[in-house]
Amino acid sequence: RIAVVGSANLDLVVTTRQLPRPGETVLGEGFTTVPGGKGANQAVAAARAGAACAFIGAVGQDDFGRVLRDNLAAAGVDVRGLREVPGPSGVALIAVDGTAENFIVVAPGANGELSELDGADQGAVAAADVLLVQLEVPLPAVIRAAGWARAAGTTVVLNAAPARPLPAELLDLVDVLVVNEHEAAVVAGVPGGDPAALLDALLSLVPRVVLTLGARGAAYADRQGLRLEVPAPRINAVDTTAAGDAFTGALAVGWAERGGPGSADEVTATLRWACAAGAACAQRPGASTALPDRAEIDALHRA
Ligand code: ADP
Repeated sequence: RIAVVGSANLDLVVTTRQLPRPGETVLGEGFTTVPGGKGANQAVAAARAGAACAFIGAVGQDDFGRVLRDNLAAAGVDVRGLREVPGPSGVALIAVDGTAENFIVVAPGANGELSELDGADQGAVAAADVLLVQLEVPLPAVIRAAGWARAAGTTVVLNAAPARPLPAELLDLVDVLVVNEHEAAVVAGVPGGDPAALLDALLSLVPRVVLTLGARGAAYADRQGLRLEVPAPRINAVDTTAAGDAFTGALAVGWAERGGPGSADEVTATLRWACAAGAACAQRPGASTALPDRAEIDALHRA
């Protein structure tokens, strides 16, 4: 069982031959709305990967909020912890040109109002094997949920995205940190560098780190001295948006099913399976609409 405390946004995506300059108006081509937000994406990813998953978050009292709620519910996510707050839902305004160059403005809206968590949320976190959190909702809510998880013996998995330096108050509650190379450098406060150095720097902050490496796969290190790297399946990447969310959701599911990291072989298996989820997402167009189900992950994992 997984609990996610995080964001839900509606992505409003326009395709255009040319991105406008400030003050300019251009005629676009296509328009789509796609449910997004790292929290909601990872909840859908976990549910599609086969776990019971509860989402705790906030949407506004608007049509977008209903779309976001329906999308989570359609994936089988428990939305009893999704509240409706005054004001607009979170949105991302995205313009993409023919070369896949983009412009994105995010208005967090309701996500910024997720500050007061209640007893029902605490119950959902305590009942979960893994609490999955990101950084698109106010930090006090993340810290509160992580504190409940720690007290209940629920594993805390933090995907530190979008990247920012983190207070010790949160880092002390994290069991597993999941980051890409950019996020790793920001959280560690170093200019970047090779994966081994990033893992070393992060192990001084948290007990276990998973570093995603795009097409190269993922690396793992923990304070017990275990270190390993797994390759990603070779695929034809079409759209890597949400690949990180697919990876993180599947990682949480694998961790929950194994009841912890397990042996080196088990860590390797969990990471390879999460890489299969990320790759399955990347080989299809679309963001959250491309999140793979368990059969697709298994098929690519075996391939
Ligand atoms: P983010 O999207 O958060 O920056 P990554 O780019 O590291 O994260 O991708 C997350 C995971 O998705 C990778 O660890 C890998 O398993 C998978 N993935 C992403 N891009 C590719 C690719 N081109 N080929 C195969 N797998 C990929």
